Amino acid sequence: MLANLYMELNIGGQCSVCGRVQELFEFPGRREKFCLECSADVAIVVHLTHEIAAAKRTGTDTGALKAEFSTVSRRMLERSQFADLDDVMVFRAE
Ligand SMILES: [Zn+2]
Repeated sequence: MLANLYMELNIGGQCSVCGRVQELFEFPGRREKFCLECSADVAIVVHLTHEIAAAKRTGTDTGALKAEFSTVSRRMLERSQFADLDDVMVFRAE
């Protein structure tokens, strides 16, 4: 199994979001490590969170941003077959 190989070679581990054993990537500013797909999605979610906050401050409509946020959040949730939901819900837009 590829997952076991990753563990043996000590180049992988369990993704903090989806819980799959993959090659993991560091994410700037966070101590968790994520698989490639999750690190991309986390980057999008972090970006959107900032965008939504900025839009709220200026009174701009956040509808489109929130729609994108929920799409990406759902994609991360769907990937997280084994992960604790609390890990994923850290990235709420509020
Ligand atoms: Zn992942």
